[in-house]
Amino acid sequence: MTEPAPPPHTSRRHSYICNVCGSDHVTRDAWAAWDMAAQQWVLEVVFDQCWCHRCMSATRLDRVVLTSPITFAAPDPAPIPQRTASPG
Ligand SMILES: [Zn+2]
Repeated sequence: MTEPAPPPHTSRRHSYICNVCGSDHVTRDAWAAWDMAAQQWVLEVVFDQCWCHRCMSATRLDRVVLTSPITFAAPDPAPIPQRTASPG
């Protein structure tokens, strides 16, 4: 049994942030398929793999509640971890 989806106009709005640095400049791997009727690429599948463009590395995402149209409640961002130069 699945939960009914809340109406979009009354539900809370969310964003997704990097769980390492708190940046919302994050993306997920996905496939886009060509929609002949719409004449544009349409998102078909979104995968679990996430990328943070601030850390420049794979990450995991935290879902946060938006407190205004463009801001969200998030923990203090952690400093970007120092990356060591190692082969491989
Ligand atoms: Zn990050």
